[in-house]
Amino acid sequence: MSHVPEIAVPAAATLGEGVCWDADRQYLYWVDILEKELHVHEPAAGSDRCIDVGQYIGAAVPTAAGELLLALHHGFHRLDLETEALTPVSDPEADQPDNRFNDGKCDPAGRFWAGTMQLEGQGPTGALYRVDADLSVHKQFGGVGISNGLAWSPDHTTMYYIDTVTYEVAAFDYDHATGAIANRRAAITFSPDMGHPDGMTIDEEGMLWVCFFGGGRVARFDPASGTELAEIRLPTSNVTNCVFGGPDLDTLFVSTARLMLTEEQLAEQPLAGNLFRVNPGVCGLEPVPFG
Ligand code: CA
Repeated sequence: MSHVPEIAVPAAATLGEGVCWDADRQYLYWVDILEKELHVHEPAAGSDRCIDVGQYIGAAVPTAAGELLLALHHGFHRLDLETEALTPVSDPEADQPDNRFNDGKCDPAGRFWAGTMQLEGQGPTGALYRVDADLSVHKQFGGVGISNGLAWSPDHTTMYYIDTVTYEVAAFDYDHATGAIANRRAAITFSPDMGHPDGMTIDEEGMLWVCFFGGGRVARFDPASGTELAEIRLPTSNVTNCVFGGPDLDTLFVSTARLMLTEEQLAEQPLAGNLFRVNPGVCGLEPVPFG
């Protein structure tokens, strides 16, 4: 392993996304949203299991009970990894069939946050939701264009959030005990020529790693100053999401997409859609399962 990205899974995904580390099983979950696939990558074995979930899938997180909680086109579902049985939990946007769930992840207290978007990204009809341990769903706010990256500061006082169409990382005051958020403000502002800010994770030093769809890279930012500190370039332009994993949480897994590339671009980028791994020289935070 090195500072140069290597291929973790040569999946050639249409829209690889939703990377999530399961520290108990040492699995890396990721999704191909438009192919309706959940992938279970076991780095130690070099394996990748693909589960067809039958509808668009935005995110998957492990639960304390040993299942997965999924954010799908039609709401939240539980998945038994052994039997692959899907059980509906709730669909907060049953009245908006043209919306689907996109990125989601657990906060440091094990609550699941996930947001929605219009299927083609047309219009601010999305929203951000929080699912508590009792599976109650709490809408946080609407008016979202493309709900994407989420992260929480190591001191559990701040939540970071990317609505791609805003070209910024927003910060909120975050109440670790209740999950309440308040006082939205811009922490980092991007230029549209950098690409579209997409997935995001945070490292143990509290610095944010932001993926740029169309930008061909993941970049590290200080959210206090908005300053860019480092970057990792990928051999393909649509970089969608990243998370730290591995036994020491020192491996950054990065998903990419073939979506929206022309035939010519696909010929120039034969590695598009693969899942990559890289060691950036800093570690991530221990992930917390749902519930
Ligand atoms: Ca995304």
